[in-house]
Amino acid sequence: MKFIDAHIHLSDKEYADCVDEIIAEAKSAGVVALVSNSMDFETSAGSLELAKRYSEMVYAALGIHPWSVNVLKENELQETLDLISKERRNSSVVAIGEIGLDYKYEKIWDKQMTVFEEMLHLAEKLDLPVIIHSRGTTAQIVEMLPSYSVKRVLLHWFSNPISALKKAVEKGYYITEGAPTVYSNGIREVVRRVPLTNLLTETDGPVRFFKPPFNGKRTTPAFIPMIVEAIAEIKKMNVSEVAEQIAKNFEDFFGVKLIDVATSE
Ligand SMILES: [Zn+2]
Repeated sequence: MKFIDAHIHLSDKEYADCVDEIIAEAKSAGVVALVSNSMDFETSAGSLELAKRYSEMVYAALGIHPWSVNVLKENELQETLDLISKERRNSSVVAIGEIGLDYKYEKIWDKQMTVFEEMLHLAEKLDLPVIIHSRGTTAQIVEMLPSYSVKRVLLHWFSNPISALKKAVEKGYYITEGAPTVYSNGIREVVRRVPLTNLLTETDGPVRFFKPPFNGKRTTPAFIPMIVEAIAEIKKMNVSEVAEQIAKNFEDFFGVKLIDVATSE
């Protein structure tokens, strides 16, 4: 079985000393591809570096997260936009992300909006998929996206409202779900309702999950098989069927061909 982690922050400081270990754990769990999402210029450069170092399985998503908006250095937005444009032809760059809007940061709402819109315009121009953070803003984002010609949209950690899920699916958007699929009734309800053809798996590491069976331990792509098992249980399907469809979704969404890293060595 091939498993995928479509949303991890592999260039985060917390993983700096253990990327080799994380990659080894991922491989031994059958995870064949990771998308390293970025928060700012530095982690975008870091994601590129990791995609080069582990080219058989790490892909890069570059961008500025709404949480970084408040601490952007002068020119950092422009430098990040330039970096993405320059690296567009690099086959390991598969998306612009993580970008979006977060209602908890309402004090910097205008700045968040400016950065988000710049990133969406670039995604249009470069024809790249987008990976979106939409805490408390999902309905609004689903309403605003059709005015951009962004062809592929991934709503990461979709939680609510269910009415926005219906609209997102109608527009052909994808969602990712991770560890909460195992223990959260709200997320399990989302998984129950979303067609399997619109679903991808994620860890969002290094974010930690404190409920059993995760208990706050270091988040690793090796969690993915547990998440796929939970999806299979909710969907009343075989684990292998679910894993196969999700791997296909990954290839369709990001436009890459997965390599079975366990057998390619
Ligand atoms: Zn994230």
